[in-house]
Amino acid sequence: MREPLINWAGNVTYRAARVHRPTSLDELRRVVAGAERLRAFGTGHSFNRLADSDAEMVSVAGLPGGIELDTAGGAVRVPAGVRYGELATWLDAAGFALRNLASLPHISVAGAVATGTHGSGVGNGNLATAVTGIELVRADGELATLRRGDDGFAGAVVSLGALGVVTALTLEIVPTYQVRQLVYEDLPQAAFVENFDEVMSAAYSVSAFTSWSGPVIDQVWRKHVDVPEIEESWWGGHPAAEARHPIATVAADACTEQFGVPGPWHERLPHFRLEFTPSAGDELQTEYFVDRADAATALRALDGCRELIAPILQVSEIRTIAADDLWLSPCEGRDSVAIHFTWVRDAAAVEAVLPVLEEVLAPLAARPHWGKVFTMAPEVVRERYRRITDFDALVRDLDPAGKFRNEFLDRYLG
Ligand SMILES: Cc1cc2nc3c(=O)[nH]c(=O)nc-3n(C[C@H](O)[C@H](O)[C@H](O)COP(=O)(O)OP(=O)(O)OC[C@H]3O[C@@H](n4cnc5c(N)ncnc54)[C@H](O)[C@@H]3O)c2cc1C
Repeated sequence: MREPLINWAGNVTYRAARVHRPTSLDELRRVVAGAERLRAFGTGHSFNRLADSDAEMVSVAGLPGGIELDTAGGAVRVPAGVRYGELATWLDAAGFALRNLASLPHISVAGAVATGTHGSGVGNGNLATAVTGIELVRADGELATLRRGDDGFAGAVVSLGALGVVTALTLEIVPTYQVRQLVYEDLPQAAFVENFDEVMSAAYSVSAFTSWSGPVIDQVWRKHVDVPEIEESWWGGHPAAEARHPIATVAADACTEQFGVPGPWHERLPHFRLEFTPSAGDELQTEYFVDRADAATALRALDGCRELIAPILQVSEIRTIAADDLWLSPCEGRDSVAIHFTWVRDAAAVEAVLPVLEEVLAPLAARPHWGKVFTMAPEVVRERYRRITDFDALVRDLDPAGKFRNEFLDRYLG
């Protein structure tokens, strides 16, 4: 992350007076025990003040120790500061894989898990669902380990950094696999909406992109684990003639290989290559999750707002995520569709439109992405999480003095 501490998008300058980068676990424990208020940060890819602190911040990127494979247990133990791109390259070389990845490989494992970051696929849970173990430094500086099945584990995975400084995560792995990526263009929007489940189930992971400015879904990216046939016409769309970037005006150099060329999972599931800047760079992002059964209703409601959306939009992405049981996961208890907006970097313009979108999605109890920009009132967000009071209790239990709280958490947690 840039110095002074600024997030990836450049729209948040963190306010911490002291930033720690410990190089040993003991040093981290001393930092945590000695701090009054402290927030952990990862690679700073969140678009709001979730990671911010008015006092101290800490990165775990400099802690020693490497990735450790537990082949018999079908798992890998990962230092929390490792980025998915590095983990994926390492795992693939060892013959293993993760079930899914987000659109970019640049984010830290702990930061992504803490916010419920996701990729796509009707059968794929978000990245936090792979977690089977969490190691963290608690407010008192002591180490704690939580394993799947332990009391409170389902609350501790998507933690928003509120429970302690995570030092390592254990993730489920599978044997490595190949993925082929096909891009289709210009699917009539009506056909897409009416046949949503079929379109989004056409491959292992499917992402649809629209600018909300024409009668079509501009691109649908299909990531196959099988060998797909290229159809000349698919739901009224056609295969792209050239490699595409999700934002039509941007060259595709930063994007992962298309045209059905087989490649390892980690070079196809993210849209963007590790060595390039992902997405547009100069942008803000927002994302709302609703029940997948409500996808058509949500898309039609947003279509009614296209005149507000299109002028400040770079691109919208529509993905699906399988339901999970993680208390603060936006996909908790429901198979979900996530509707994402990459906006131009004009915070005032974006914040003027968001309340309208949030209102039209309110009947569907939309949940916002914790790491992106939203304007929903705290009480509205809270009523959409069935386990939020259990999470409040877990926070009080592990961090009674509120060491890991900040303004953001004070607003959304009890
Ligand atoms: C270009 C771009 C593309 C994106 N694509 C996707 C996408 O495909 N899918 C998606 O869901 N999201 C996406 N995001 C959002 C991103 O995945 C999340 O904001 C994620 O949290 C970023 O991880 P980070 O390491 O940068 O976390 P940070 O922003 O640094 O921190 C996020 C949270 O994690 C906590 N945290 C970080 N490290 C620790 C730790 N060691 N211990 C305890 N808490 C910790 C922080 O306290 C904070 O609460 C994208 C963002 C960008 C900029």
